Amino acid sequence: MAGSYSLLPPAMRVRAKIMQIIREEIDRIGGQEFLLPVLHPAEPWQQSGRWNLIGEELFRLTDRKDADLCLAMTHEEIFTTLALELNSYKQLPQLWYQIQTKLRDEPRPKSGVLRVREFTMKDSYSFDVDEAGLDRAFRNHYEAYKRIFDRLGMDSIAVEASSGMMGGAGSVEFMVRSDAGEDWIVLCSAGDYSSNVETATSVLAPIEDPVSAPLEKFPTPGVRTIKALEDFEGGAPADRQIKSLFYLVGEELVIVLMRGDHSLAEQKLLDGLSVIEARPATADEIFAAVGAHPGSLGAVGVDGYRIVADRGLEGRVGMTTGANEDDFHLRNVDITRDISVDDWLDLREVVAGEPCVNCGKPLEVDKTIEIGHIFKLGRRYSEPFGAAVLDENGKATAMFMGSYGIGVERNMAAVVEVNHDDKGIVWPMNVAPYEVVVTVLRPEDADTMAAASRIYEGLRADGVDVILDDRKERPGVKFADAELVGFPLRVTVGPRGVESGLFELVTRATSVVEEVPADELVAVILDRVMAAKQ
Ligand SMILES: [Zn+2]
Repeated sequence: MAGSYSLLPPAMRVRAKIMQIIREEIDRIGGQEFLLPVLHPAEPWQQSGRWNLIGEELFRLTDRKDADLCLAMTHEEIFTTLALELNSYKQLPQLWYQIQTKLRDEPRPKSGVLRVREFTMKDSYSFDVDEAGLDRAFRNHYEAYKRIFDRLGMDSIAVEASSGMMGGAGSVEFMVRSDAGEDWIVLCSAGDYSSNVETATSVLAPIEDPVSAPLEKFPTPGVRTIKALEDFEGGAPADRQIKSLFYLVGEELVIVLMRGDHSLAEQKLLDGLSVIEARPATADEIFAAVGAHPGSLGAVGVDGYRIVADRGLEGRVGMTTGANEDDFHLRNVDITRDISVDDWLDLREVVAGEPCVNCGKPLEVDKTIEIGHIFKLGRRYSEPFGAAVLDENGKATAMFMGSYGIGVERNMAAVVEVNHDDKGIVWPMNVAPYEVVVTVLRPEDADTMAAASRIYEGLRADGVDVILDDRKERPGVKFADAELVGFPLRVTVGPRGVESGLFELVTRATSVVEEVPADELVAVILDRVMAAKQ
């Protein structure tokens, strides 16, 4: 089914190497490894409030005694429960982690192992007595993550991000540029601003408005889109239109107003409303509420629904919007006078080329894969769980927490996305399923096979991760497979090499071919492997 994958032996080897790199770097900053259950009782999730806050993304089930259970998508609740064992500041800081299975009912599983319903994650949790401690744990993770992604052969970019369902105060995502990605990031060309598009802002050029005039309704037969109203005689340019979007937050209908030429960044809406989920209302739901269809919607005179508007509309005069009557629009809309906006929020999605908020230089928008996410949770979980310790003055204080995640298979996929060519994968040495393949050209020839075995055993004895390709296949097939699977180094052993005493060594990444004397081969390869793993 969509979003479920079986990992085959080469992938298992890569996965194990990725997990080992993660382990080494988290251990290096003081982490201790745990293993928590996947199956959770509902109670801790009720205690944190997420049992209700999270909707269908959380897999839920009941056991034979009718007890509510869920399958964990993250472990803040259980680690916080374990942290109840801590009772003094002298036991802090603590850094706990695990590498374990997570499940989430992803609505649209796709892009191979990038977006799945079941995956392995390294999640760590820090516990500190004060905010300064949390800042230190956060910084340590930031540095550890940078090192992990370096070792995985990826140029990571750290960006400001939405905390979404984790809550808390601030988070940083690590991204890698890739056309296979589904996340967009905003970067300043001068290097002083970086953010996920879900949280990014930019400078908005001012627009001069006319003086306020009386509201006027006018017929717009067949006009259903921003573009059509631009082209319509007596219509308005997109930046003089108000676009009205209807969202359902739980049972509540919310009207979202944007400037006609601006797009809504949905995560900004969720964050602005402090909710985890919302969905666009259907045409039927909208009609039932305001008596008009999409294309003729507006918020003028609307009462009884929450209206939120993007700051780009603040103070605007002389605007045009739907009249909430099919085939009619309103002009001369003065937002302050005509619409009772409940909340002004930053909802606009940044577009490439807009000026940076820090320096005014044009912003870039790049497609990326998210490879890590770190959160400052603060007391979001310690307070509801009563996870407190006695501080230096003997006073009980709720601990400051952070949580830090890396998806293992997602990183495996990202490594492939940024390390491949038209022949196949180009694995970085650190995570390749095997570092070297010894390709035997005539395995039925005893001398050739003996020479290949000597090289293979020699490399193994030196700790090189090597595979012997002695299949009964044509050389072309073996070479193509070696390139497809992406072994960093290939040694070719055939009767000609046995006779000349020179064997061919091919580097996958550069396609460079060298002739290496038989008695130096193992040492040369060992050097290459060690150098690439630095
Ligand atoms: Zn800038």
